Amino acid sequence: MIRKNRLTKLLNLHLNPHSWHSYSTRGKLNPYLYLSFTLAVLQLSCSPALINLDIAKDEVAKYYESEQYEKEMNEIIIEAKEKFSNIEVHPNSAVVFDVDETVLDNYEAIKQIGFGYESKYWDEWIEKASAPANPQVKDLYDFLVKKGFKIIFITGKKDYQYNATFKNLNAAGYIDFDTLIVRGKKDYKTKSALFKSLKRKEMTEKGYIVVGCVGDQFTDCQGENCGIVVKLPNYLYLVE
Ligand SMILES: [Mg+2]
Repeated sequence: MIRKNRLTKLLNLHLNPHSWHSYSTRGKLNPYLYLSFTLAVLQLSCSPALINLDIAKDEVAKYYESEQYEKEMNEIIIEAKEKFSNIEVHPNSAVVFDVDETVLDNYEAIKQIGFGYESKYWDEWIEKASAPANPQVKDLYDFLVKKGFKIIFITGKKDYQYNATFKNLNAAGYIDFDTLIVRGKKDYKTKSALFKSLKRKEMTEKGYIVVGCVGDQFTDCQGENCGIVVKLPNYLYLVE
C-alpha cells in the first residue's frame, strides 16, 4: 500500500507538466527528474510485489506500537477462551504453549537491532531472562490454569538455554506448568514443526491429552495432537 502510494505520488509529480517546469532548469528537463521517473516506472513494471525494507520496518513497528496488534490479540484470545470453555476438562487435559512471541514478548529486544537477527545478541538476551509476558497470552494461560488444564511449554530454544528460559517464565508470572521442553542436541537440526509434533506425541505417550496448541508460528501447531489451534500474529520473523 505504502509503496503504491509513494510511487503514485512520484508518478503524478513527474507526469504533471507544471511540476516538470518547476524541476527543470532553463526550460530543459532536469536529468535527475528523468532518472527518478524511469526508476519509478521500472519499479512498477519489474518488481510490483517488492517493498522498500525501511518502509516495511516502519509498517511493522506501527502495527505493534499502535492499537492494531493489541486489538487483534484481544480478539484471538476471546475466541480461544470461548473454545476452551466448551470442552470438558480431564485431569490429564493439557494445552501446549510455544514460548517466544507467544507467552514471552521479545519485541523491544528485536527492535533494538533493527528487526534483524544476530545469534550472539539473541543468546545474550535470552540469558538475561527478562522478556516480559505477552499480556493477552498470560490472560489465556491464567484462564486455562484456573479451569484445571495442565500447561506444557515446547520451545525451539536449545538445552543450554533451559535454565534462563525457565527463570524468565517464572519472572513473567508463568509459575504453574508441568514441563518445559527445549531442543536436546539430537534435535538441533530437526525442523520446528517435526520437533514440536514429536514432543507432543511424547507427551501423549506419557498420558496427557493435548487439547490445545498456542503459538505465533504455523510450525508451532502442525501435525497431530494439537487440539484447538490458537495462532497468534507475528510479523517479526518466520520459523520454518
Ligand atoms: Mg514463537
